[in-house]
Amino acid sequence: MPRVLVNGVGTIGKRIAHAIKLQDDMELIGVADIAPTSVLKNVLSEFGPLNGVDLYASTEEGKKSLEKGGLKVKGLLKDLLEKREVDLIVDATPGGVGAKNKEIYRRYGVKAVFQGGEEAEVADMTFNAVVNYEEAIGKDFVRVPSCNTTGLVRTLHALHSNIGVNYAFIALARRAADPWEYKKGPINAVSFSSVPSHHAPDVLTVLKDIKAFSMAIVIPTTLAHTHILEVEMKREASLEEVLNAFEKQTRVILLDMKEYPSTSMIIEKFRDYCRSRYDMYEIAVIKDSVNVEGRRVRWFQVVHQEADVVPENVDAIRAMLKIEEDKWKSIEKTNRSLGIIK
Ligand code: NAD
Repeated sequence: MPRVLVNGVGTIGKRIAHAIKLQDDMELIGVADIAPTSVLKNVLSEFGPLNGVDLYASTEEGKKSLEKGGLKVKGLLKDLLEKREVDLIVDATPGGVGAKNKEIYRRYGVKAVFQGGEEAEVADMTFNAVVNYEEAIGKDFVRVPSCNTTGLVRTLHALHSNIGVNYAFIALARRAADPWEYKKGPINAVSFSSVPSHHAPDVLTVLKDIKAFSMAIVIPTTLAHTHILEVEMKREASLEEVLNAFEKQTRVILLDMKEYPSTSMIIEKFRDYCRSRYDMYEIAVIKDSVNVEGRRVRWFQVVHQEADVVPENVDAIRAMLKIEEDKWKSIEKTNRSLGIIK
């Protein structure tokens, strides 16, 4: 069975590691980190989802730190790589660290998936399962873009592949921090990101034949990002056609504003479903926000920043290791294993 290791076990890494553990066609051979965080201790503990998974230290310093923090370290990541015991690493270290780690992965001939905090140039391609799975087959270095980019690519692709998109204007209200991050803010302000924000250029690394511009603000919430889009389609389309395009798109769901008038109500839905950590892997399009005027369509959508990239990472692994060459088989398998609605 192909052997996969997750390097960096924080918000994203712990979820990806858990998702890999749920697959029956790949093996989570270990996780690696440099710091004995409470997150790492929790997930590896007898109560955590990674109980029994081997822990490696990503650096010599990290080994000392992990052991000092009371964690049992199986060895150094570099020694494991030297023995050629890993086929692929999912690098979920903080933005910029992955690019430095790439040299190590290259030296030991191990494939790697990078996350959205890295520049697009870190990898051979930027991945979305529906858009370009085939291109990732057998690739050595692939990047899964950020949570926002992943969400935007899913809905824009739905419209582009069914109706055609010329241009998208994207306004993002970004969550200030992940729920556990008590030191980040703002807590009583709206802050502006430089214009244009990096999101539209990032979307264009996947959807190469549309035009887009994005502006972002950061708001005091931790639950999810909210996007407002205005898209110029290639031709006029009916509201029904647009809703059908979203309806058909995997990992996109339509929610009624009357039942779900806020991000908190949407997140509550996934708490009620008893999803692990209330993870919403799907992008929620607010159905009654969708409005069409000639060739223009506008809507609200909600992205759970901690979760939507997780299924894309699992599919990227399958493509790169040639575990499955049919993208729909991979997508369906990942969706089923994570309980994704559609
Ligand atoms: P995080 O800070 O929650 O976790 C990072 C983990 O990496 C920590 O456990 C840290 O100890 C470990 N680490 C740090 N340096 C390391 C090294 N040299 N070697 C091994 N481990 C190291 O970060 P995160 O939020 O999970 O982000 C990881 C990546 O995912 C980033 O590229 C980020 O941009 C991207 N991402 C984050 C989110 C989000 O909302 N948090 C969403 C999508 C993508």
